Amino acid sequence: MPKAPKWLNDTVESLLSGKMPMLQVIAAEYINPAIKRIRFHGDISRLNFHVGYAMAVRVSGTEYRNYTVSYHDAEKGIVEMIAHLHGNAPGSIYVDSLTTGDALRLVPPRGKKMYDSAVKQHFFFGDETSLGLACSLQQSLQKNDQRYRFYFELDHENKNVPALLGLDNYTLVAKGTTFFDAALVNELPLFRIRNWHRGNFILTGNARSVQTIRKVLKQNNISGNILAQAYWAEGKTGL
Ligand SMILES: Cc1cc2nc3c(=O)[nH]c(=O)nc-3n(C[C@H](O)[C@H](O)[C@H](O)COP(=O)(O)OP(=O)(O)OC[C@H]3O[C@@H](n4cnc5c(N)ncnc54)[C@H](O)[C@@H]3O)c2cc1C
Repeated sequence: MPKAPKWLNDTVESLLSGKMPMLQVIAAEYINPAIKRIRFHGDISRLNFHVGYAMAVRVSGTEYRNYTVSYHDAEKGIVEMIAHLHGNAPGSIYVDSLTTGDALRLVPPRGKKMYDSAVKQHFFFGDETSLGLACSLQQSLQKNDQRYRFYFELDHENKNVPALLGLDNYTLVAKGTTFFDAALVNELPLFRIRNWHRGNFILTGNARSVQTIRKVLKQNNISGNILAQAYWAEGKTGL
């Protein structure tokens, strides 16, 4: 996301205050030291929510970062996100600092729709940054009785997080291994699932992984759709 001077961000926020709801943090929970779930409360009645939509959070005077809506309840005015605290960077530091009672304006959820209620099978590839999307997707998939399989590349210390978040039907691979190597992606059990090639393929997380997996899927002549969005790229700030 582009960096803008503080005065400009302040001006835009005050001009668009009607469209950017002021929300209050009502829960801030560490799933483990690197994964934090934040629950906000406020008037979200005029916002649009689709699986895959992300909200931008102002993480410093000059910068915004994207975080996917992992859960929402429009009637109760609740929105949640799940953040990867990956180190010394503005987004990580800001989310780490959030505590109950903090108030902030959110840029309303927008972006790519990642769910199709008409498709029977969904295959999902991602990392820690994709866990929020996986949570919101699983709710819709289960509600509509669709088949799904998650493939997560996670740091070793985060391998218990999917279970702690209530995710199921997942396979774990070590970070920076399988998803970086086309030959290893080709060996995933996915390719032995009946009619796998007719599913939808949702790819998010590390740009390099997204690129590799997309290439393998295309080489395998899938007939389903690929819904791909890199969430971060090595050495780049705030995609
Ligand atoms: C549509 C969209 C939805 C997203 N949803 C989520 C979400 O729900 N949860 C979430 O945690 N993130 C999500 N992200 C990713 C998040 O916006 C980026 O990780 C962002 O770069 C974090 O900002 P930062 O200030 O912490 O790091 P930055 O200042 O942007 O980056 C600093 C350095 O850290 C590296 N870096 C960035 N992210 C990571 C990471 N996760 N692991 C390791 N290195 C990293 C960068 O390559 C860069 O070198 C989403 C991104 C997009 C585009």
